[in-house]
Amino acid sequence: NKKRVVIVGGGFGGATAAKYLKKFSPDTEVILIEQNKDYYTCPFSNTVIAGMNKIDYIKHDYKTLEEKYKIIVRHEKVAKVDGTINSVILENGEIIPYTKAIVAPGIDFKYDKGYIEGSEAYAPHAYKAGEQTVLLSEQLQNMKDGGTFVMVAPNNPFRCPPGPYERVSLVAHYLKHNKPNSKIIILDQKNKFSKQGLFQEGWEKLYKDMIDWRSVEFGGKVISVNPKTKVIKTDDGDVIADVLNYIPEQKAGKLAFDSGLVDGDWCPINTKTFESKLVKNVYVIGDACIAGPMPKSGFSANSQGKIAALQISRILVDLPLVNPPKLANTCYSLVAPNYGISVAAVYEAHDNEIVDLKSLGAGGLSPSYADESIRMQEAEYAIGWYKNQMSDIFR
Ligand code: FAD
Repeated sequence: NKKRVVIVGGGFGGATAAKYLKKFSPDTEVILIEQNKDYYTCPFSNTVIAGMNKIDYIKHDYKTLEEKYKIIVRHEKVAKVDGTINSVILENGEIIPYTKAIVAPGIDFKYDKGYIEGSEAYAPHAYKAGEQTVLLSEQLQNMKDGGTFVMVAPNNPFRCPPGPYERVSLVAHYLKHNKPNSKIIILDQKNKFSKQGLFQEGWEKLYKDMIDWRSVEFGGKVISVNPKTKVIKTDDGDVIADVLNYIPEQKAGKLAFDSGLVDGDWCPINTKTFESKLVKNVYVIGDACIAGPMPKSGFSANSQGKIAALQISRILVDLPLVNPPKLANTCYSLVAPNYGISVAAVYEAHDNEIVDLKSLGAGGLSPSYADESIRMQEAEYAIGWYKNQMSDIFR
């Protein structure tokens, strides 16, 4: 009577959970169901948009997970996870029973203000990597010198809090060297953002007067948008873009809604195991779950994937939970190819909350007004982080 864990979603969260579950519990049958054959990471997709890397740099496949770790990988779309019959239902009707399921579907968008499904063909969000990344990159390359790149940045909570600002930085780097008469406007739907001081210090130093950040309170508030004409109505008048990168507000991936895992926009979980508070035997990790102070990042999803796998491997053989489990996150951002900044944190899961251990001196932020050599070193660490994470997950 073999135990079976079915994992849906082969991104940072799901692929990590699959690999680590096999490590912690080799006799358990692990099935990973992912709709796409290749996975394009959002991390480093901003370097592709800015022409620093080709799209293949962020492309990964599931061969090693299948061949080396003996995970059964199925490329199928899941219709829903049905907790009443402990089974995953594929879109083709196939029913796959499980002992435990892990769900990591990532995010979906809240279409609003004239940005509807299909708008991404004109005004790419590029907030799921792959085709969208290439499209935004092409639009940037085709923009005239003297053009305006407009980004609409979402309100919290959303995937990768520093992501929009890293993107703007690298777009500015590209424009500075290729189309120096161009400018960037950020229409932000909030009043402050992640690593703001460090980003703005870098912008002042490297891209003086090129980036115009407008907070929601001071000219940034979007009333409506026409993705085809690229005219954005704000409470401070119309803004016309040559390239419009519209990043909508976000919610848990559709699969989480269809499986009854969502309360509001996101999935509530038991903090020590990541088991859903709404559906027994189903664990939710990554961007879709509510993990207190942990940001929606690839690193967080990776850390959560390991904890969920560890706790499930123990539950399956009646061992006590690891208590309290520790989690971590680091987000590197490139302000330019040789200018990196970062934020790091360590967390501990208590009964009803995940606690940031900063009061114990864990974690930190890059220093302000640091020497160039420190920014250069952090840019190297950023690349090192990416390579390590990819081999931790996919190799
Ligand atoms: P995902 O990685 O999105 O994986 C979800 C998977 O589920 C997808 O492969 C999808 O195809 C699959 N799926 C969904 N529904 C179904 C279904 N019904 N059937 C089958 N498969 C399904 N994080 C960092 O840590 N560091 C960074 O530097 C960083 N940079 C970023 C830059 C940008 C521009 C962006 C947008 C994000 C960045 N992130 C970064 C955040 C990171 O990409 C996400 O937090 C991470 O991908 C979340 O992992 P996940 O497993 O929850 O979801």
